[in-house]
Amino acid sequence: VKPLLELEDVSVIFERRQGLFSEPTKIGAVVDVNFGIYPGEVVALVGESGCGKTTLGNVVTGLQKPTHGKLSYNGVDLAKMNKQQLQEFRRGVQMVQQDSYAALNPMRTIYQSLSAPILQKKIVKKKDVFQRVCELLSTVELNPPEQFLYKYPHQLSGGQRQRVLMARAISLNPKIIVADEPVSMIDVSLRISILNLMASLNKKMDIAFIYITHDLSTAKYIAQNGRIAVMYLGKLAEIGNVRQVLANPKHPYLQALLSAVPVPDPKVAKGNRSIPLKNFDMPSPANPPKGCRLHPRCPYAEARCETVEPQLTRVDASEVACHRASEIPAWNLVPAQ
Ligand code: SF4
Repeated sequence: VKPLLELEDVSVIFERRQGLFSEPTKIGAVVDVNFGIYPGEVVALVGESGCGKTTLGNVVTGLQKPTHGKLSYNGVDLAKMNKQQLQEFRRGVQMVQQDSYAALNPMRTIYQSLSAPILQKKIVKKKDVFQRVCELLSTVELNPPEQFLYKYPHQLSGGQRQRVLMARAISLNPKIIVADEPVSMIDVSLRISILNLMASLNKKMDIAFIYITHDLSTAKYIAQNGRIAVMYLGKLAEIGNVRQVLANPKHPYLQALLSAVPVPDPKVAKGNRSIPLKNFDMPSPANPPKGCRLHPRCPYAEARCETVEPQLTRVDASEVACHRASEIPAWNLVPAQ
Protein backbone atom coordinates (compact mmCIF):
# COMPACT_ATOMS: atom_id res chain seq x y z
CA VAL A 1 0.00 0.00 0.00
CA LYS A 2 1.32 3.43 -0.93
CA PRO A 3 1.12 6.32 1.53
CA LEU A 4 -1.83 8.63 0.98
CA LEU A 5 0.32 11.54 2.02
CA GLU A 6 4.09 11.59 2.10
CA LEU A 7 6.70 13.97 3.43
CA GLU A 8 10.19 13.69 1.98
CA ASP A 9 13.08 15.55 3.66
CA VAL A 10 10.63 18.23 4.83
CA SER A 11 12.04 21.18 6.78
CA VAL A 12 10.42 24.37 8.02
CA ILE A 13 12.95 27.06 8.85
CA PHE A 14 11.62 30.31 10.30
CA GLU A 15 13.64 33.54 10.34
CA ARG A 16 13.45 35.80 13.38
CA ARG A 17 14.99 39.27 13.72
CA GLN A 18 15.83 40.68 17.16
CA GLY A 19 16.02 44.28 15.85
CA LEU A 20 15.47 46.19 12.63
CA PHE A 21 19.13 46.01 11.54
CA SER A 22 20.13 42.71 13.10
CA GLU A 23 20.85 39.57 11.09
CA PRO A 24 17.93 37.13 11.11
CA THR A 25 18.24 34.04 13.30
CA LYS A 26 17.20 30.80 11.64
CA ILE A 27 14.93 28.53 13.66
CA GLY A 28 14.47 24.99 12.43
CA ALA A 29 10.97 24.09 13.66
CA VAL A 30 10.94 20.92 11.56
CA VAL A 31 14.14 19.43 10.12
CA ASP A 32 14.50 16.74 7.41
CA VAL A 33 11.38 14.79 8.28
CA ASN A 34 10.49 11.71 6.21
CA PHE A 35 7.11 10.30 7.01
CA GLY A 36 4.12 8.70 5.25
CA ILE A 37 0.46 8.41 6.26
CA TYR A 38 -1.44 5.38 4.98
CA PRO A 39 -5.19 5.20 4.28
CA GLY A 40 -7.26 4.66 7.41
CA GLU A 41 -4.37 4.48 9.89
CA VAL A 42 -3.94 6.35 13.18
CA VAL A 43 -0.60 7.98 13.96
CA ALA A 44 0.07 9.64 17.30
CA LEU A 45 2.63 12.43 16.92
CA VAL A 46 4.16 12.94 20.34
CA GLY A 47 6.63 15.40 21.84
CA GLU A 48 7.16 18.21 24.32
CA SER A 49 6.00 21.78 23.66
CA GLY A 50 8.20 23.43 21.07
CA CYS A 51 9.40 20.18 19.46
CA GLY A 52 7.77 21.08 16.12
CA LYS A 53 4.77 18.73 16.16
CA THR A 54 2.19 21.48 15.52
CA THR A 55 4.31 22.91 12.68
CA LEU A 56 4.51 19.42 11.19
CA GLY A 57 0.70 19.13 11.50
CA ASN A 58 0.35 22.46 9.70
CA VAL A 59 2.61 21.20 6.91
CA VAL A 60 0.45 18.08 6.50
CA THR A 61 -2.72 20.18 6.18
CA GLY A 62 -1.06 22.63 3.77
CA LEU A 63 -1.33 25.54 6.21
CA GLN A 64 2.46 25.81 6.39
CA LYS A 65 4.58 25.54 3.27
CA PRO A 66 7.80 23.57 3.84
CA THR A 67 10.93 25.66 3.23
CA HIS A 68 12.69 22.51 1.95
CA GLY A 69 11.53 19.09 0.86
CA LYS A 70 8.45 17.65 -0.77
CA LEU A 71 4.88 16.93 0.31
CA SER A 72 2.85 14.57 -1.89
CA TYR A 73 -0.83 13.65 -1.73
CA ASN A 74 -2.07 10.66 -3.72
CA GLY A 75 1.38 10.48 -5.26
CA VAL A 76 1.31 14.05 -6.63
CA ASP A 77 3.79 16.70 -5.44
CA LEU A 78 1.80 19.52 -3.79
CA ALA A 79 4.01 22.14 -5.46
CA LYS A 80 3.07 20.77 -8.91
CA MET A 81 -0.65 20.24 -8.38
CA ASN A 82 -3.19 21.72 -10.75
CA LYS A 83 -6.23 23.58 -9.40
CA GLN A 84 -8.42 20.48 -9.26
CA GLN A 85 -5.77 18.37 -7.49
CA LEU A 86 -5.18 21.19 -5.01
CA GLN A 87 -8.91 21.36 -4.24
CA GLU A 88 -8.97 17.59 -3.75
CA PHE A 89 -6.02 17.88 -1.32
CA ARG A 90 -7.71 20.71 0.62
CA ARG A 91 -10.92 18.69 0.91
CA GLY A 92 -9.06 15.48 1.69
CA VAL A 93 -6.96 16.76 4.59
CA GLN A 94 -8.77 18.54 7.41
CA MET A 95 -7.70 19.88 10.78
CA VAL A 96 -9.29 19.90 14.23
CA GLN A 97 -7.74 22.58 16.40
CA GLN A 98 -6.99 22.55 20.10
CA ASP A 99 -8.94 25.69 20.97
CA SER A 100 -12.51 25.01 19.85
CA TYR A 101 -13.68 28.43 20.99
CA ALA A 102 -11.18 30.27 18.80
CA ALA A 103 -11.76 27.89 15.87
CA LEU A 104 -15.48 28.70 15.60
CA ASN A 105 -16.86 32.08 14.57
CA PRO A 106 -18.63 33.40 17.71
CA MET A 107 -21.11 35.36 15.54
CA ARG A 108 -22.31 32.26 13.65
CA THR A 109 -24.74 29.59 14.78
CA ILE A 110 -23.60 25.98 14.59
CA TYR A 111 -25.83 25.53 11.51
CA GLN A 112 -24.12 28.46 9.77
CA SER A 113 -20.64 27.17 10.67
CA LEU A 114 -21.38 23.65 9.43
CA SER A 115 -23.38 24.54 6.32
CA ALA A 116 -20.88 27.09 4.94
CA PRO A 117 -18.17 24.61 3.78
CA ILE A 118 -20.82 22.17 2.46
CA LEU A 119 -22.39 24.91 0.36
CA GLN A 120 -19.05 26.32 -0.78
CA LYS A 121 -17.68 22.94 -1.90
CA LYS A 122 -21.09 21.78 -3.21
CA ILE A 123 -20.92 18.53 -1.25
CA VAL A 124 -24.71 18.03 -1.53
CA LYS A 125 -27.54 19.83 -3.37
CA LYS A 126 -28.69 23.06 -1.73
CA LYS A 127 -32.04 21.53 -0.71
CA ASP A 128 -30.22 18.70 1.15
CA VAL A 129 -27.85 20.89 3.21
CA PHE A 130 -30.11 20.99 6.28
CA GLN A 131 -30.42 17.22 6.28
CA ARG A 132 -26.64 16.86 5.86
CA VAL A 133 -25.90 19.18 8.82
CA CYS A 134 -28.34 17.18 11.00
CA GLU A 135 -26.62 13.94 9.95
CA LEU A 136 -23.22 15.40 10.81
CA LEU A 137 -24.39 16.43 14.28
CA SER A 138 -25.80 12.93 14.84
CA THR A 139 -22.56 11.35 13.67
CA VAL A 140 -20.63 13.29 16.31
CA GLU A 141 -23.28 12.32 18.87
CA LEU A 142 -24.85 15.74 19.35
CA ASN A 143 -28.42 14.52 19.66
CA PRO A 144 -31.06 15.56 18.93
CA PRO A 145 -29.40 17.79 16.29
CA GLU A 146 -32.26 20.34 16.40
CA GLN A 147 -31.18 21.20 19.93
CA PHE A 148 -27.77 22.41 18.68
CA LEU A 149 -28.43 23.85 15.21
CA TYR A 150 -29.23 27.40 16.25
CA LYS A 151 -26.93 27.71 19.24
CA TYR A 152 -23.82 29.90 19.27
CA PRO A 153 -20.40 28.50 20.29
CA HIS A 154 -20.52 30.19 23.73
CA GLN A 155 -23.75 28.29 24.51
CA LEU A 156 -22.00 24.93 24.19
CA SER A 157 -19.58 23.16 26.53
CA GLY A 158 -15.93 22.63 25.51
CA GLY A 159 -16.63 18.97 24.70
CA GLN A 160 -19.67 19.87 22.56
CA ARG A 161 -17.66 22.54 20.68
CA GLN A 162 -14.93 19.97 20.02
CA ARG A 163 -17.62 17.66 18.54
CA VAL A 164 -18.80 20.51 16.29
CA LEU A 165 -15.20 20.93 15.05
CA MET A 166 -15.11 17.20 14.37
CA ALA A 167 -18.41 17.51 12.45
CA ARG A 168 -16.98 20.38 10.40
CA ALA A 169 -13.86 18.35 9.63
CA ILE A 170 -15.83 15.33 8.38
CA SER A 171 -18.33 17.46 6.44
CA LEU A 172 -16.11 17.42 3.34
CA ASN A 173 -15.56 13.63 3.43
CA PRO A 174 -11.83 13.87 4.20
CA LYS A 175 -9.29 11.07 3.95
CA ILE A 176 -7.06 12.45 6.73
CA ILE A 177 -7.82 14.50 9.86
CA VAL A 178 -5.01 16.17 11.80
CA ALA A 179 -6.22 16.61 15.38
CA ASP A 180 -3.93 19.00 17.27
CA GLU A 181 -4.24 18.38 21.03
CA PRO A 182 -8.04 18.07 20.64
CA VAL A 183 -8.67 17.05 24.25
CA SER A 184 -6.14 19.14 26.16
CA MET A 185 -8.56 22.03 26.78
CA ILE A 186 -11.59 20.02 27.86
CA ASP A 187 -12.51 18.40 31.18
CA VAL A 188 -10.59 15.22 31.97
CA SER A 189 -13.92 13.38 32.43
CA LEU A 190 -14.93 14.17 28.83
CA ARG A 191 -11.62 13.40 27.14
CA ILE A 192 -12.23 9.70 26.71
CA SER A 193 -15.53 10.32 24.89
CA ILE A 194 -13.82 12.58 22.32
CA LEU A 195 -11.05 10.00 21.83
CA ASN A 196 -13.72 7.31 21.38
CA LEU A 197 -15.48 9.50 18.83
CA MET A 198 -12.24 9.85 16.85
CA ALA A 199 -11.72 6.07 17.02
CA SER A 200 -15.26 5.45 15.75
CA LEU A 201 -14.85 7.95 12.86
CA ASN A 202 -11.59 6.19 11.99
CA LYS A 203 -13.32 2.80 11.89
CA LYS A 204 -16.68 3.71 10.33
CA MET A 205 -15.48 6.27 7.78
CA ASP A 206 -11.97 4.93 7.23
CA ILE A 207 -10.48 8.36 7.95
CA ALA A 208 -6.77 8.40 8.80
CA PHE A 209 -5.97 10.43 11.93
CA ILE A 210 -2.80 12.20 12.98
CA TYR A 211 -3.27 12.79 16.68
CA ILE A 212 -0.86 15.44 17.94
CA THR A 213 -0.24 15.34 21.67
CA HIS A 214 2.27 15.59 24.51
CA ASP A 215 0.35 12.95 26.45
CA LEU A 216 1.64 9.40 25.98
CA SER A 217 -1.35 7.76 27.65
CA THR A 218 -3.94 9.26 25.26
CA ALA A 219 -1.54 8.57 22.35
CA LYS A 220 -1.47 4.91 23.33
CA TYR A 221 -5.26 4.82 23.71
CA ILE A 222 -6.15 6.41 20.37
CA ALA A 223 -3.46 4.73 18.27
CA GLN A 224 -4.11 1.26 19.74
CA ASN A 225 -3.31 -0.55 16.50
CA GLY A 226 -1.60 2.34 14.76
CA ARG A 227 1.79 4.00 14.94
CA ILE A 228 3.52 6.46 17.19
CA ALA A 229 6.02 9.04 15.99
CA VAL A 230 8.13 10.76 18.65
CA MET A 231 9.64 14.17 17.89
CA TYR A 232 12.51 15.90 19.59
CA LEU A 233 13.71 19.39 18.67
CA GLY A 234 12.26 19.34 15.14
CA LYS A 235 13.31 15.80 14.23
CA LEU A 236 11.76 12.36 14.42
CA ALA A 237 13.45 10.34 17.15
CA GLU A 238 11.50 7.08 16.92
CA ILE A 239 8.59 5.75 14.91
CA GLY A 240 6.79 2.42 14.84
CA ASN A 241 3.78 0.39 15.93
CA VAL A 242 2.48 1.98 19.12
CA ARG A 243 2.23 -1.23 21.16
CA GLN A 244 5.69 -2.45 20.17
CA VAL A 245 7.36 0.94 20.57
CA LEU A 246 5.87 1.66 23.99
CA ALA A 247 6.55 -1.89 25.20
CA ASN A 248 10.16 -1.69 24.08
CA PRO A 249 11.21 1.94 23.49
CA LYS A 250 14.69 2.22 21.99
CA HIS A 251 15.41 5.94 21.89
CA PRO A 252 16.74 7.39 25.19
CA TYR A 253 14.43 10.38 24.79
CA LEU A 254 11.33 8.18 24.57
CA GLN A 255 12.60 6.08 27.48
CA ALA A 256 12.93 9.30 29.50
CA LEU A 257 9.43 10.46 28.50
CA LEU A 258 8.00 7.13 29.62
CA SER A 259 9.97 7.30 32.86
CA ALA A 260 8.18 10.56 33.65
CA VAL A 261 4.69 9.01 33.38
CA PRO A 262 3.44 8.24 36.90
CA VAL A 263 2.52 4.60 37.45
CA PRO A 264 -0.51 4.15 39.73
CA ASP A 265 0.49 0.59 40.72
CA PRO A 266 2.55 0.76 43.95
CA LYS A 267 3.92 -2.71 43.20
CA VAL A 268 5.75 -1.42 40.19
CA ALA A 269 9.16 -0.24 41.28
CA LYS A 270 11.30 2.34 39.55
CA GLY A 271 13.98 -0.27 38.80
CA ASN A 272 15.64 0.33 35.48
CA ARG A 273 12.68 2.25 34.13
CA SER A 274 14.04 5.61 35.18
CA ILE A 275 16.49 7.24 32.83
CA PRO A 276 16.96 10.87 33.79
CA LEU A 277 18.10 13.30 31.11
CA LYS A 278 21.07 15.43 32.17
CA ASN A 279 19.49 18.87 31.75
CA PHE A 280 15.86 19.59 32.28
CA ASP A 281 15.30 22.08 29.45
CA MET A 282 15.14 21.38 25.76
CA PRO A 283 17.80 23.46 23.93
CA SER A 284 16.62 26.30 21.69
CA PRO A 285 15.76 25.32 18.09
CA ALA A 286 17.58 28.54 17.10
CA ASN A 287 20.83 27.01 18.26
CA PRO A 288 20.43 23.22 18.26
CA PRO A 289 23.32 21.02 19.42
CA LYS A 290 25.50 19.59 16.65
CA GLY A 291 25.44 15.85 15.96
CA CYS A 292 22.62 14.18 17.83
CA ARG A 293 20.33 16.89 19.16
CA LEU A 294 19.87 15.00 22.42
CA HIS A 295 23.59 14.56 23.18
CA PRO A 296 23.97 17.30 25.86
CA ARG A 297 21.15 15.65 27.81
CA CYS A 298 21.64 11.98 26.94
CA PRO A 299 23.16 9.67 29.59
CA TYR A 300 24.36 7.30 26.83
CA ALA A 301 26.11 9.93 24.67
CA GLU A 302 29.57 9.09 23.34
CA ALA A 303 32.06 11.03 21.19
CA ARG A 304 30.42 10.42 17.79
CA CYS A 305 27.07 11.66 19.14
CA GLU A 306 28.58 15.17 19.36
CA THR A 307 29.44 15.35 15.67
CA VAL A 308 27.48 12.79 13.64
CA GLU A 309 23.75 13.21 13.27
CA PRO A 310 21.94 9.86 13.63
CA GLN A 311 19.42 8.90 10.90
CA LEU A 312 16.25 6.86 11.36
CA THR A 313 17.30 3.20 11.13
CA ARG A 314 15.27 0.06 11.68
CA VAL A 315 15.97 -1.60 15.04
CA ASP A 316 13.61 -4.51 15.79
CA ALA A 317 10.06 -3.16 15.33
CA SER A 318 10.94 0.56 15.32
CA GLU A 319 12.83 3.08 13.28
CA VAL A 320 15.15 4.90 15.64
CA ALA A 321 17.46 7.90 15.21
CA CYS A 322 20.15 6.89 17.70
CA HIS A 323 23.68 5.59 17.08
CA ARG A 324 23.44 3.29 20.07
CA ALA A 325 19.83 2.11 19.76
CA SER A 326 20.75 -1.58 19.64
CA GLU A 327 23.09 -1.33 22.68
CA ILE A 328 20.95 0.71 25.07
CA PRO A 329 19.50 -1.38 27.91
CA ALA A 330 15.85 -2.33 27.58
CA TRP A 331 13.37 -0.12 29.35
CA ASN A 332 10.70 -2.02 31.20
CA LEU A 333 8.46 -1.97 34.18
CA VAL A 334 10.00 -3.97 37.00
CA PRO A 335 7.67 -5.27 39.75
CA ALA A 336 8.71 -4.32 43.29
CA GLN A 337 10.71 -6.97 45.18
FE1 SF4 B 1 22.05 9.52 23.00
FE2 SF4 B 1 23.97 9.29 21.15
FE3 SF4 B 1 21.66 8.03 20.86
FE4 SF4 B 1 21.78 10.64 20.63
S1 SF4 B 1 22.77 9.17 19.29
S2 SF4 B 1 20.24 9.50 21.71
S3 SF4 B 1 23.27 11.17 22.18
S4 SF4 B 1 23.19 7.68 22.46
